[in-house]
Amino acid sequence: MKRFENKVVVVTGASRGIGQAICAAFGREGALVAGVARSDLTETGAKVTAAGGTFLAVNADLATGSQSEAAGLIAGILKQTGRVDALVNNAGIIRRAPAVDFSEADWNAVLQTNLSSPFFLCQAVAKWWLTGGREQAPAGSRLKLVNIASLLSFQGGITVPAYTASKHGIAGVTKALANEWAKERINVNAIAPGYIATDNTQALRDDAKRNQSILDRIPEARWGQPEDIAGGCVFLASGDADYFNGAVINIDGGWLGR
Ligand code: NAP
Repeated sequence: MKRFENKVVVVTGASRGIGQAICAAFGREGALVAGVARSDLTETGAKVTAAGGTFLAVNADLATGSQSEAAGLIAGILKQTGRVDALVNNAGIIRRAPAVDFSEADWNAVLQTNLSSPFFLCQAVAKWWLTGGREQAPAGSRLKLVNIASLLSFQGGITVPAYTASKHGIAGVTKALANEWAKERINVNAIAPGYIATDNTQALRDDAKRNQSILDRIPEARWGQPEDIAGGCVFLASGDADYFNGAVINIDGGWLGR
């Protein structure tokens, strides 16, 4: 029996990169994956289906950080799926500029996408769970909320102040929600990916010096691949992680331990 058969998993940032790999990994476990992004989700849908799962494409913009839009998004998914077993808050953006030049627009865009929307999506799913969803769930099952944090939940980074603020923030929110909701059969945890080869980090790989200095510090001596992150998400969303609460787990090829 696959671990997520008859289960519904919502994954934001599903169109490419880490989010697409997370969708495929849940597909391999038989899940119905509701993938959220602004752009076309056909490729992700094909990967989920090929892996053995079912895919629901949901186009939405998470840059507003709006509580009512997050609630509307979850309500729309619930209308089609009837239930949510896990939410992976993966959508995220990064804007690079020296702190003295950092614009208000970039600050707000990053904080709204990376921190406000994930918080309000957790809130919307938890509200459904606490107001009847839990009663419909199979006996003993739990709601799983997984936030994608970063090494910059622990470190300051270089010329990415808003991103660092958002990722420290999401680590804190993960712990705060875990404290409130563990007793409600909700597990809230986070994965902190290291340096993963996606669009998000293309600028670093294009800078030969930065690229080498990053590789020099990673004990595994390679950039991570999106698939390196996906298994950890599936684990945290599974019954094997029922006693994980408020953990921020780095998957980083050894970066933080160095
Ligand atoms: P990516 O390749 O740039 O993909 C980002 C995803 O987020 C895309 O699917 C994008 O979809 C979605 N997204 C961005 N803005 C959105 C919005 N306003 N509304 C809805 N969806 C939006 O990035 P990635 O590297 O896979 O990053 C995924 C997550 O991992 C992010 O939270 C990132 O901070 C985190 N992370 C990445 C690394 C790394 O090294 N790559 C390291 C640590 C943490 P659309 O553009 O189609 O909307």
